[in-house]
Amino acid sequence: MPLSSKPIWVAHLPDPRGDLANAKAGARPEALLSVAGLRVAYGGINAVKGIDFTVAAGEMVTLIGANGAGKTTTLKALTGLVRPAAGSVRYNGADITALPSHRLVALGIALVPEGRGVFTRLTVEENIAMGAYCRDDKWGIRADHDHVFALFPRLAERRHQVAGTLSGGEQQMLAIGRAIMGRPRLLLLDEPSMGLAPLMVQKIFETIRAIAATGVTTLLVEQNAKLALEMCDRGYVMESGEITLSDNARALLANPRVRRAYLGE
Ligand code: ATP
Repeated sequence: MPLSSKPIWVAHLPDPRGDLANAKAGARPEALLSVAGLRVAYGGINAVKGIDFTVAAGEMVTLIGANGAGKTTTLKALTGLVRPAAGSVRYNGADITALPSHRLVALGIALVPEGRGVFTRLTVEENIAMGAYCRDDKWGIRADHDHVFALFPRLAERRHQVAGTLSGGEQQMLAIGRAIMGRPRLLLLDEPSMGLAPLMVQKIFETIRAIAATGVTTLLVEQNAKLALEMCDRGYVMESGEITLSDNARALLANPRVRRAYLGE
């Protein structure tokens, strides 16, 4: 059953579709995520140099940029995995700067990390169950679990297989499935296309779009700028730790600078 016709949040939590309705209504809603002056350094290396960006509730936003631009570090700073040297991160009106990751999951923020981060020795089913560790609504978990399998039939076929033996694409599906078991309101994805064959990338992106269409606010970090901009509402371009361009995705796709630097033209 397609995700868009039967959202996984049925009646358990405040419906994130409200976010989508607000965003589509055209009114500029208050940002769900708001980053100001974010700076991150690794020893003497300034990886992120004081960036500002926002993601409105219901939006799909992408952060694109070359290798080493600071995209992953930005996501790590948002999710408590590295400590920012300066700046603030606000989510749903509250300051969440440097909150530990487990607190963020409980607030509805899920990260699908670069390299997927699945538990390789656990089975597919066990990995999915781990995504619901902060929930105790048994029936809701059961329904969402079934829904992940409906979304990714390949995972259902491999439910008893240990994750380490899955293909890269299947591991990516599992990482996304595990993330949505936490019923996120904000989904952060780090390079979901990395290392995958074009057909698999297409499948993964279609699923991300379907998840976003149910109202989950999405921030997508990608090196595949074309795909990311084609799918998202807005984009930010990151270069050497700074945001150098921001616009709606269509305008960025048409921007000669973006076309030269990121679309191979
Ligand atoms: P990629 O697409 O390759 O992941 P990125 O845009 O995500 O690139 P980051 O991984 O955030 O970039 O890296 C930004 C800068 O910080 C790079 O110069 C990188 O070498 C450096 N860096 C990242 N992680 C560390 C670390 N743990 N220790 C030291 N320097 C790091």
